[in-house]
Amino acid sequence: MHYQRTFKNLVAGFALAAWAVLAAAQTAKPNVVILATGGTIAGAGATTANSASYAAAKVPVDKLIAGVPELKDVANVTGEQVFQIASEAFTNEKLVQLAKRVAQLAAQPGVDGIVITHGTDTAEETAYFLSLVVHTDKPIVLVASMRPSTSMSADGMLNLYDAVVVAGDKASRGKGTLLVMNDEIHSGREATKRVNIKTNAFYSQWGPLGMVVEGKTYWFRNPVKTHTSQSEFDIANIDTLPMVQIVYATGQMYPEMYEGAMKLGAKAIIHAGTGNGSVANYMVDTMRGMRAKGVQIIRSARVPDGFVLRNGEQPDDKYDWVVAHDLNPQKARILAAVALTKTNDAKELQRIFWQY
Ligand code: GLU
Repeated sequence: MHYQRTFKNLVAGFALAAWAVLAAAQTAKPNVVILATGGTIAGAGATTANSASYAAAKVPVDKLIAGVPELKDVANVTGEQVFQIASEAFTNEKLVQLAKRVAQLAAQPGVDGIVITHGTDTAEETAYFLSLVVHTDKPIVLVASMRPSTSMSADGMLNLYDAVVVAGDKASRGKGTLLVMNDEIHSGREATKRVNIKTNAFYSQWGPLGMVVEGKTYWFRNPVKTHTSQSEFDIANIDTLPMVQIVYATGQMYPEMYEGAMKLGAKAIIHAGTGNGSVANYMVDTMRGMRAKGVQIIRSARVPDGFVLRNGEQPDDKYDWVVAHDLNPQKARILAAVALTKTNDAKELQRIFWQY
C-alpha cells in the first residue's frame, strides 16, 4: 500500500517535470541578433515635425532596442553596431564585411535569426547580396524606416518589432533573405525601393511573400530562385568583388559612357536599357567592341517591371551578351559581381542570371 502510493507520487512527479520542460520549450523565446548599420531607422531630426529632413545614422543600436520595449516579449534580443552609415555609402567592401559577420552569427547554434537595420536607399542590394552568399536557412531580415525615430508617426518602431517577429519565427526559415517594412514581408531578391517619400517605400513586382500583423506572420508564397543554403556562392570564399558599372540609357548616348567604365576597370557593364533593355543602333558597335575586349555586356532595363527577353531587342546569342532576366540594374550589378568571382564565361553568367 505504502509502496503503491510512493510509486504513484513518483509517476505524478515525473509527469509534472516533463510538462514543465515541455511548457518551457514551447514558451522559450528565440534568440535574435540585431546588426545595426545606420539609415533613417537610426536617424534623428531637429523637431518632431521633421519627418523627411533629418540626419540618418545617429542613434546607436542599444537605444534602438531600448526604444521598443515590446521586443523582449517576442525574443531574446542582442544588438551589435556593425556600421553607422547612410546606406548610399554601402561600398562593396562593406557588403563583404557585413556578409561575413552574418555568416558567422548564422553558424552559431544559439542564434535563431538575424535582423539588419539598414538605410532604405540600398537595402535591396544588401538583401540580395546576402541571399546569394550566406549559407543558412535561418531568417536574415532587413528592416528600415522612412521617418526618423524623433518624428511624429515614426515607422521604425513597428518595423523593427515586426522584423524581430519574422526573424524569430520558424516559418521564416529557408525563404532566403527577407525585407520587412510597412507590415509586409518581401523577398530580399525582389524587394526594391519604389517610393522615396512615403512609408510604403518597398515593392516587389511579383508580390510580397507575406505579412506580419500584431506579432504574427502570415505567408502567401515562396521564392523559387536559388538562394542562401542552396547557393553555389559562399562568402567564405569571397574577399573582394569585381567592379561592375551601370550605364543608364536614354535616346542620347555616347561611347565614352561605356568606355569610361571599362577604363575604370569594370569587368561587366549593366546596360540599364530603355524598354526591353534595348540598345540604340548607333551604340551597338561600341558595346560589341567592348565585349571583344572581354567586358561582359548585361542587358537590364530602366523599366521597373517585367523582364528582359533574351534575343528580343538584340541578338544576344550572336553578340555573346547576357540578359538580366527580371533583375533591375542595381540588383543585376550585385549578381554580376558575385557571379564574376566564379566565372567569366557569358553562357555561364546567363545560366546564373536565370537561376538566381
Ligand atoms: N539615404 C539614407 C540611407 O539610405 C536615409 C534613407 C533611409 O534610410 O530611408 O541610409
